[in-house]
Amino acid sequence: MTLPYAEPLTKLAPGPRVIPEPPRIGEPGGDPCGFCAWIADPARSGHQPPLWSDEDWVLCRAVDVTIPGIVWLASREHHDSFADLPDRMAASYGGVVARIERAILALGDIARVHVYRWGDGSAHFHVWFYPRPLGMLEARREMLPLWADLMPAAPAEAVAAAEEKIAAALLASDPRP
Ligand SMILES: [Zn+2]
Repeated sequence: MTLPYAEPLTKLAPGPRVIPEPPRIGEPGGDPCGFCAWIADPARSGHQPPLWSDEDWVLCRAVDVTIPGIVWLASREHHDSFADLPDRMAASYGGVVARIERAILALGDIARVHVYRWGDGSAHFHVWFYPRPLGMLEARREMLPLWADLMPAAPAEAVAAAEEKIAAALLASDPRP
């Protein structure tokens, strides 16, 4: 693994802890949840429609994509983390993630699909899917989001084509009658 920065880097000590932490988006005292506002009125938000959704889950496009196939999955309703999901959603999560992973892998030239749940920005449940390009060994493990942040934006047509393929695969794999 290689950092996307040149040497020499200087090791830092952690700063003093900030307690209480500032509220996140969608938390009491924080900015209102933008995702809930979007779901309540998709047309007014000006955002593009989701790639796919069902009664519990919404698969979304990312912005400023550097690796075609980066997408994120959110709960339709406002829940914070795995610990807060209703049992029905906790049970369906694995199957939905598997379908998304298969859809991204089917794009080709992808070694693995990373699934990240950070939760430090917004308090609305969401996980990120990052395809690691095949052969990009320097971007293994935690290096992939660092590289993805710094790489040039991917061509818009390539991003849109990947998103449409993912959406089509999700539709095709829908277990609902
Ligand atoms: Zn929300």
